[in-house]
Amino acid sequence: MTDDCLFCRIVAGEIPATMVHETDDTLAFRDIDPKAPVHVLVIPKAHHRDVAALAFADPGLTGKVMAACAAVAEQEGLTGDGYRIIFNVGAHGGQEVFHVHGHVLGGQPLGRMLSV
Ligand code: AMP
Ligand code: ZN
Repeated sequence: MTDDCLFCRIVAGEIPATMVHETDDTLAFRDIDPKAPVHVLVIPKAHHRDVAALAFADPGLTGKVMAACAAVAEQEGLTGDGYRIIFNVGAHGGQEVFHVHGHVLGGQPLGRMLSV
């Protein structure tokens, strides 16, 4: 738990979120500003700043986060038409919250991968 981390505070129940999936090690909740009909954030309950830090520190937990992303996609009915999982890293990656989170996006065609 990191006091000044928004997603640690969601894990602690201090800030409300619309939960869609939970395991012993992961939590998934709806993005507050959805960019697609389905937009769910999947996080490890433990604090790691980004997916690279998580992968180096705890490969097993990284796998659990990916499995949780897949479970959310299945639960949200996205597996037939497909979906996208995004992990933003750092400034150029557009990361704004520095507690690793996978964006699970779907429910409509998502277009080209990048629009830079
Ligand atoms: P990123 O830019 O990859 O760091 O993504 C951060 C995401 O967190 C954005 O899509 C925000 O809309 C989302 N977000 C910020 N605050 C909240 C919140 N309190 N509950 C749910 N999602 C949030
Ligand atoms: Zn955190």
